[in-house]
Amino acid sequence: MKTIGLLGGMTWHSTIEYYRLFNEFVYQKLGGQNSAKVLLYSFNFDDLRRWQTTDTTVLAEQLAKAALKLEKTGADVILIGANTMHEYHPQVQNTVSVPVLHIADAVGKRIVANNIKKVLLLGTKYTMQGDFYKNKLAEYGIETIVPDLGEQKIINDVIYNELTFGEIKNSSRDAYLKIIESIKQRENISGLILGCTEIPLLIKPKHVDIKVFDTTKLHAQAAVEYVADK
Ligand code: GLU
Repeated sequence: MKTIGLLGGMTWHSTIEYYRLFNEFVYQKLGGQNSAKVLLYSFNFDDLRRWQTTDTTVLAEQLAKAALKLEKTGADVILIGANTMHEYHPQVQNTVSVPVLHIADAVGKRIVANNIKKVLLLGTKYTMQGDFYKNKLAEYGIETIVPDLGEQKIINDVIYNELTFGEIKNSSRDAYLKIIESIKQRENISGLILGCTEIPLLIKPKHVDIKVFDTTKLHAQAAVEYVADK
C-alpha cells in the first residue's frame, strides 16, 4: 500500500474526518487489520486565514512548501484537505512530482456516474465565487449553480463563524435547508455539492431530498483508491 500525504488543519474538524475516512475506506477495500498509511501536515488555521486575507502568494507558497515536505517524507499522493485551498492546486501540483488529487475531480467523476448534469454548490465565498471549482466541474459537462449574494453571505458566515470553530447549530442547519429549498424552486438542480469540508458535519443526506455529494468523503475515497489499489 502506498502512503497518503494530507495537508490538513483546514480545519482540524474536517481533518479528523479525513483520517477516519481513510481508515474506513482502506478497511472496506482490504479488510483484516489493514489501515491507511498517512502523513499529515496540519496547518495552524489562523495562519491560513491571515495569508488568505492578506497575501495569497504567501498562502500558495506555504501550501506548496508543506506539500514538498510530505513528498520528501514519503507521500506517494497528496491531498489538500479543503475545497477553498484548491484555488492554489496548480501551484502545489507544480511544486511536487507526485499527484495532488483535486477534490473537484473526485466530485465531478461521482456526479457523472450518477448521470446528473446540474448541481448546487455550497462552500465558502471563495469557492462559490471563484472559477477554479466551477471550471473543473465544467470539464465534466456539469453546470454549477451557486446561491445569490445574500444567500452566499449566510452560507459563508456559518462556515467561518461556526463550522470552522467546530460549532454545529440547528438554527444554521435550518438556514442552509431554507436556502437549498428556495434554490430548488428556482433552478432545476438534481444534486447538491457540500463544497466545504466542514459542511458534512452540519448537513447529512437525510436532511435533503436530492442527491448529496460530500466532498470530504469523495476526496478521501479517491485517495484510498489510489493508494490501496491491489
Ligand atoms: N474547509 C473549508 C473548505 O473546504 C474552508 C476552510 C478554508 O480552507 O478556508 O473550503
